[in-house]
Amino acid sequence: SETFELARERAKLLDSQEPNGQLYGIPFIAKDTLLVKGTVTTAASNILGNFEAPYTATAIKKIEDEGAICIAKANMDSFGHGSSTENSDFTKTLNPHDKERVPGGSSGGSASSVALGIVPFSICTDTGGSIRQPASFTGTYGLKPSYGRVSRNGAIAMTSSTDTVGAIASNVKDLAEVMDIISGQDPKDSTSIVKDESLTLDSAEDKNNYKVAYIKELLADGVDQEVRETINQAIAKLRKSGIVVEEVSIPEIDYALAAYYIIVPAEISSNLARYDGIRYGHSTNEAVKLSDTYNKSRMEGFNAENKRRILIGTYVLSSGYYDAYYKKAQQVRTLLIGAFNKAFQKYDALLGPVAPTTAFKFGDSEDPIKMYLGDIMTVAPSLVGSPASSIPVGIGEKSKMPVGLQIIGKHGDDKKVLEIGRLVEEVVK
Ligand code: GLN
Repeated sequence: SETFELARERAKLLDSQEPNGQLYGIPFIAKDTLLVKGTVTTAASNILGNFEAPYTATAIKKIEDEGAICIAKANMDSFGHGSSTENSDFTKTLNPHDKERVPGGSSGGSASSVALGIVPFSICTDTGGSIRQPASFTGTYGLKPSYGRVSRNGAIAMTSSTDTVGAIASNVKDLAEVMDIISGQDPKDSTSIVKDESLTLDSAEDKNNYKVAYIKELLADGVDQEVRETINQAIAKLRKSGIVVEEVSIPEIDYALAAYYIIVPAEISSNLARYDGIRYGHSTNEAVKLSDTYNKSRMEGFNAENKRRILIGTYVLSSGYYDAYYKKAQQVRTLLIGAFNKAFQKYDALLGPVAPTTAFKFGDSEDPIKMYLGDIMTVAPSLVGSPASSIPVGIGEKSKMPVGLQIIGKHGDDKKVLEIGRLVEEVVK
């Protein structure tokens, strides 16, 4: 509700001024992992249930500087841990296409609010698929930018080496415009990179300029038939329109999920160590001694999935297991980067589904391993640092739910990914 009050105040202020800025008066929603000064910013976790943001995230500030108004914070899996928004500590978010089904995650609230038309865009984060997969599940357009393209300042950390701030919108042109605004180097994030070109799309792209390939391993067995069919139809339409689509094999991709679920918990265990019941958020009422403050605050404030990741993370980082798990996973990551770079020498972008299924029903992925397996297609680009988008290309025949095509580019090629995204958008219309 303090978000509404702030929004009203801002709207009044903007009304009293000369119209100014590219997004003047346009409402948007921010995933609740992005700090907006004066609002409670929780990352959908009880441990930050009462945490008031002391400053505004750089990406949000840039959007507001163009005259846009943040009208709400969006629900998510707490700290970004999940793929269905069922891991929120507060409430579940429904998929607007079918209320018995999840909206995807972790940016489920962001995706659903754009799919419903409540706002034209939402600013959100993607660490291993959290923009792309909910965009795919809700039939919206999402971009996870190149690592470093958008400042992470003011984004609550999950996995510092793969966290990115991006957006979900209702078409590629809007998506490109918003991404252009939030891009750029920021002195407050030493991993952010210089903005070398505008991302906005103005002129019509020449489809013959691009050579793309679909990744064979992403269309193998284990992908739901309705997903495979919808993606294959989209590829056929692309070819018919004159775009060259070849096949490429990246066998290393089969190891991406295992590496991701070692590296990510490792970084999570380190990033979540700051929630100690003293510096931020929830502090237990049950403490008798100092160690109770740490232990009980964390026990009460974190949910089962947060704890699972902290435990796995501290385990793979502990002496004795570090070499066997963490170091190996980093070696796999290096191999993946090499394999993708090799493919990008030949192709402008790589294609595949975003997820092996369409939006599943609530409770269907209660087993955490099953939930992790659903991330199999989005985690490799995250480990590599590639820009990747989800573009809706059709409705699955069986579930009658949207299917997204993933377009993956070389690090730094965000513009190309958006241009190809627009071609896909036009071709499937
Ligand atoms: N679903 C993935 C995970 O649970 C990705 C989450 C994200 O990108 N924040 O790790």
